[in-house]
Amino acid sequence: MYNEESMPIMTMYTDAPAASSPILDALKDANRVLLLTHVSPDGDAIGSLLAVWHVLHDMGKTPIALASSALPDVVATLPGIEHVQVYQRGDVFPEADLVWLVDAATLERTGPVFEDHEATLREHPLIIVDHHVTNTGPGMINLIQSSAASCADVLLRLFQAMECPITPAVATCLLLGLTTDTQSFQTTSTKAQSFESAAVLIHHGADHHDVVKQIFYQTPYETLKLMGLVYSEMQRDGDIVWVRITRQMMEQTGAEDGAYDDILHLLQRVQSVRICVLFKEREDGNVKLSLRSTPDFNMAEIARRWGGGGHAQAAGATLHMDLPTAEREILPEIRAVCNAS
Ligand code: 5GP
Ligand code: MN
Repeated sequence: MYNEESMPIMTMYTDAPAASSPILDALKDANRVLLLTHVSPDGDAIGSLLAVWHVLHDMGKTPIALASSALPDVVATLPGIEHVQVYQRGDVFPEADLVWLVDAATLERTGPVFEDHEATLREHPLIIVDHHVTNTGPGMINLIQSSAASCADVLLRLFQAMECPITPAVATCLLLGLTTDTQSFQTTSTKAQSFESAAVLIHHGADHHDVVKQIFYQTPYETLKLMGLVYSEMQRDGDIVWVRITRQMMEQTGAEDGAYDDILHLLQRVQSVRICVLFKEREDGNVKLSLRSTPDFNMAEIARRWGGGGHAQAAGATLHMDLPTAEREILPEIRAVCNAS
């Protein structure tokens, strides 16, 4: 456990080489390192989490990888995935010397872990490695590179600067993160660096074949059923297209929670669409809002107005209201943003 006097002031780095020695210093005195990421983790969140797990394990540390909620199917075959525990409400807080958060802007984004253990979490020194524009660097050591297309990208640079061996297992985890967050190198955030990172990872033995298989050829039958239902009720107002996923649709098809990501991907293919909106009715009656847009708009700005955040072209928020109210509140706002551009 850390003591107050040894805790350095909060430092913010935007490039990996500068952050590598403070991170190595922080790791020197830490053995048990608790690794966390955002709730409803995606490929980048878990790929990044597990890559850090491997690197720390290879250093002789005892990393504890803890996902705040169920893992997406896409990570099922990642090497070492059995080491990622999924937090259950009321679980005890793991004993740790240090907390390392990846792909998330704040501790709050760990959802149930934060809600159950906020005070304990805040007692621990914190490393954050992230690429979200909304990240203001609330950790003790923050490495935030908002120009990077994925957290995996930032971690690759960091591991290289730390001179950690990039094993095939680490490389595969990072390649999955990089590939999913760039939607297979399609997003506008995809830069030369993303392709360079991919090349480096393949040189280090990343299993490209398995990454492609997991992303494109493992869609659960139930997800496709759900897609059929959801798209049949798709609505459009000029360049805005929206869909809703109701609890009833989820029950009827038996689809997994993560299915909404696949649904959004396909929505963006609609000819001349500029903004895609997805409303997902949650079990607790709240609505998860997901926004996607062409580069003409800033979805993070809209999401922030509703207490959410994210990236310019992909953002989200939790709306504390029912589905019809959410549509009534959000759609005129989106219309106004569209009209103003
Ligand atoms: P998605 O629509 O896929 O859930 O999220 C798109 C992006 O917005 C992701 O980068 C995600 O981290 C961010 N995001 C989604 N929901 C929230 C939220 O409730 N709060 C914040 N701060 N970011 C969110
Ligand atoms: Mn990410």
